[in-house]
Amino acid sequence: MADRILLIDDDPAIHRLAAVLLRGLGVELHSASDAGEADVIMRSLRPDLILLDFDLPGEPGLDFLQRIRGEAQLAEIPVIFVTASIGDEVIRQCFAAGASDYIQKPLRRHELLARVSVTLERNRMLEKLQTIARRDALTGLANRTAIHEQIGAALQRAEGESSYHFAVLFLDCDRFKFINDSLGHDTGDLLLKQMADRLMVNLRRTDIVAGDTGPVTLSRLGGDEFIVLLDRLPEPETAGAIAARLVSVLAEPYLLGQHVITAPVSIGVVCNGPQHATADHMLRDADVAMYEAKARGKNCHVMFDPKMQEAIATRLLLENDLRAAIGTRQIYLVYQPILSIENGRMQAVESLVRWQHPDRGAISPEYFIGVAEDTQLILPLGDWILDEACRQFREWEQMPGVRAPDYISVNVSPAQLRAPGYNRRVAEILDRHGMQPRNLQLEVTESMLMQSSGDETAVLAELRATGVRTALDDFGTGYSSLSCLHQFPFDVLKIDRSFISELHSERKEFIALVHAIISLAHNLGMECVAEGIETREQIAMLLTVDCTLGQGYLLGPPERVPAALGAVAAHAEHSARVAAAG
Ligand code: C2E
Ligand code: MG
Ligand code: MG
Repeated sequence: MADRILLIDDDPAIHRLAAVLLRGLGVELHSASDAGEADVIMRSLRPDLILLDFDLPGEPGLDFLQRIRGEAQLAEIPVIFVTASIGDEVIRQCFAAGASDYIQKPLRRHELLARVSVTLERNRMLEKLQTIARRDALTGLANRTAIHEQIGAALQRAEGESSYHFAVLFLDCDRFKFINDSLGHDTGDLLLKQMADRLMVNLRRTDIVAGDTGPVTLSRLGGDEFIVLLDRLPEPETAGAIAARLVSVLAEPYLLGQHVITAPVSIGVVCNGPQHATADHMLRDADVAMYEAKARGKNCHVMFDPKMQEAIATRLLLENDLRAAIGTRQIYLVYQPILSIENGRMQAVESLVRWQHPDRGAISPEYFIGVAEDTQLILPLGDWILDEACRQFREWEQMPGVRAPDYISVNVSPAQLRAPGYNRRVAEILDRHGMQPRNLQLEVTESMLMQSSGDETAVLAELRATGVRTALDDFGTGYSSLSCLHQFPFDVLKIDRSFISELHSERKEFIALVHAIISLAHNLGMECVAEGIETREQIAMLLTVDCTLGQGYLLGPPERVPAALGAVAAHAEHSARVAAAG
């Protein structure tokens, strides 16, 4: 396409001359005799270069240039001043106002051609550079800078046009890290390219679901995150339909070299609204919705709702409070006995952490352990819990009048097992309290095994080799099949309370299921503990299927000092002694 030059000058002779002189250059020349006329032309054709009379009557050339430099659409157009009065001061003013060059009147052919071609060429180079700076090198899609600009422009448009809707989709691959780590970066890159292609192909067919939508922009934000900008939607709901289709299309398997893999995505969707002042706001809300999609089980899309933002804000506040609370009295342990359901003898206690928040009251460990796991706070918190549980165990062991348990069972998160040097820290803590490894049991939940890369179970196996006991917690909730049990290094299997709560006379099939679990565990040399026993009927049924150990509110709730220790009196005495000494 020929370059378009706009010449702005009040002298018709200059226009005629320029048309003749520029003929050989193959450019398209447009003419304006004043700023007003120029404004109209500039907006309809966006010239590649402006030749501007320095001494323009009406709005002077310098003012005109300064004005268009302030307008986003026009700011980048190169401008060459044309002037009869060249002097140092004029040249300084031209460049200070943002001119690319200047040409002296009367126009001479060689000078005009040289200066115009150099400026056009430089402009082409700049545009090429800008295209490169707006592309993602791996996929060829728009990059972060480009999508930011486009969302910004869409927001600006929405401000003036109430019927204009657009949406931003935030896509994140659910298993990218795993694929990248296990199959290598080349395969990871290949996957990203194939995802980009698949998205492209499907977004081109957007009209099928969306009716008459505007252009779609696809970009990669970095890593495995993609952004889709759906422009000119007939109504906001359309975005959800498109997101749902992308989720299903991306869930289909990929062929990557030798490997057939699946790499589903989670998508957060946000539609523009008055609360969005900047592109960052929209991207942040789309990101929040994407996290919500992950939390709802991944491989799905979620529309942003402002309540999600509140939940995140609360979580952030809580994270700060938790950081400050570790090591203070706000956080403490309670202990629930694990008893023989045949004779009531206490075998062990399980430590359960509690957080009494000064303003919010008691916060469930199921919630704050999650916060701690997401933020690595689980490492200092987990160390504190283990240390405190061991200290308490030793205190009971040494306290006269207390029937101490055989061992104490402490819950451990997978993040702790993954942290370097966990085994060494366990050994140090045991040492510090002069405790035998067989007096400690570590519990990990069955769902952990699902997400485990194998490293965590290796760490547990090493600990077990030193004599520490291990238990598989909440068995039955993590879908790990009974046939895999023998691969894992556990002494104890804890049957989740969701099974135990079904043990009543009307649900005969559950007793058969629990029986099968217990037989298999016993065959593999594991002990079984029934969790969450609340009724005598459950105990009676458990005894018929050889379950001997149980835990639950009926047998003893979690307490600071479990009644089963027979230790209340001893504790009162101990506390009195500590108080007197302090
Ligand atoms: P869990 O390890 O399976 O602990 C048993 C949970 O069941 C405890 O809830 C306990 O209070 C509750 N429970 C005990 N008996 C009964 C009963 O008869 N009926 C019912 N409905 N519930 C019963 P809690 O204390 O709220 O802990 C919830 C989960 O939080 C724990 O499940 C464990 O996964 C996690 N957790 C607790 N303390 C810690 C800790 O120190 N570290 C880690 N990593 N996780 C912990
Ligand atoms: Mg437990
Ligand atoms: Mg449990």
